[in-house]
Amino acid sequence: MTNVDFIVVGQGLAGSVLSLKLIDAGYTVMVIDKPELSSCSRIAAGIWNPIVFKRLTKSWMIDELLPELLSFYKNAETQFHIPLITERHIVKLFSEQQEADLWKKKATSEVENYLDKTVYHDNDFAGIKISAFGYSKVLKSGNLDVKTFLKATQLFLIERQSMLSEEFNHQDLNITETISYKNITAKKIVFTEGFLIKNNPYFNYVPFKPAKGEVLTIETKNVKIGTNIINKNAFLMQLESNTYKLGATYNWEDLNENQSQSAVQELQDKFKKIAQVDYTILKHESGVRPSVIDRRPVMGQHPKHKNVFLFNGLGTKGVMLAPYFAQRLVNYFKSNESLLEEVNVSRFNKFFVN
Ligand SMILES: Cc1cc2nc3c(=O)[nH]c(=O)nc-3n(C[C@H](O)[C@H](O)[C@H](O)COP(=O)(O)OP(=O)(O)OC[C@H]3O[C@@H](n4cnc5c(N)ncnc54)[C@H](O)[C@@H]3O)c2cc1C
Repeated sequence: MTNVDFIVVGQGLAGSVLSLKLIDAGYTVMVIDKPELSSCSRIAAGIWNPIVFKRLTKSWMIDELLPELLSFYKNAETQFHIPLITERHIVKLFSEQQEADLWKKKATSEVENYLDKTVYHDNDFAGIKISAFGYSKVLKSGNLDVKTFLKATQLFLIERQSMLSEEFNHQDLNITETISYKNITAKKIVFTEGFLIKNNPYFNYVPFKPAKGEVLTIETKNVKIGTNIINKNAFLMQLESNTYKLGATYNWEDLNENQSQSAVQELQDKFKKIAQVDYTILKHESGVRPSVIDRRPVMGQHPKHKNVFLFNGLGTKGVMLAPYFAQRLVNYFKSNESLLEEVNVSRFNKFFVN
């Protein structure tokens, strides 16, 4: 019999960040994950962008999220002895003069910390199409190598004998004063199953609005963008020399992980507007983002079972949201700190049928 403080179901971004933070706070965990079930975190570009491009406003809570993001992933780099994050600029290519004008206005007012004030016209990027309206840069952005982070976390958990690599079967869960699952007993269980929450009988009342996304890895010798991420309705980010990630699509209807030809076409069309160069597609990947209807994370206690918890709803911004909100959940466990109402699963209690 194994006895732990927490069972964590799922080792995507949510489960990985939460487990590391629980261990750091002195708790024992058993993480149960079958990676083949959902590839969302594993295929993500891992970009954090402090700006919402649609309205050129700050991303929700960015001033709180960013310091936690940097300190958490930098600590993980030290702990695992591997590079995980790259601080980058996002180069926003303008399509019309109004875009450039709005940018200049916002860069000297509410989002000044995150926007370069200059509109550039010189083409510093070989192969990239710069229009007459120029481009500018989002500052303080970057990306996490999510796949490497998850692998390193998995190895760390295996070494500590805190990982079970198998499918979690909800029927085998027994909830009384304590939690028991097969030969494991725990004080609490936290579900971090991403969009597969839909199979979870305890939390399937939470109104998710998942969004499928697809990305391509392409190879070309004809583009030079350094560590910058190029953005114009799609992003282009260098992985290794001559290979680039191109993404991403959004689809709210076709909610499976199969790769679609229509996504390849869409991304190729978008790429043509960013660069007109020859390239080869090396890889095509897809996943489903666990977004909630109100586009906020969702976490906290089950309305009936006091030792059953949820940490989910990271949507399109898992890299940015996970460190800050996992820390809030750990503080809730450790010091009874209350959760933000905006993210508390209790906001959906009206949908729960006992
Ligand atoms: C194409 C694409 C691009 C993206 N790009 C970015 C980006 O640039 N920046 C960003 O911040 N976010 C990005 N995202 C979003 C990001 O990937 C998500 O926010 C994040 O990965 C969600 O993590 P999660 O742990 O909640 O879910 P998941 O990654 O789905 O993890 C859930 C885990 O639980 C496991 N699991 C589920 N059920 C069971 C079960 N019954 N038994 C055992 N294991 C189980 C799954 O196999 C999986 O390992 C992107 C998403 C997509 C699809």
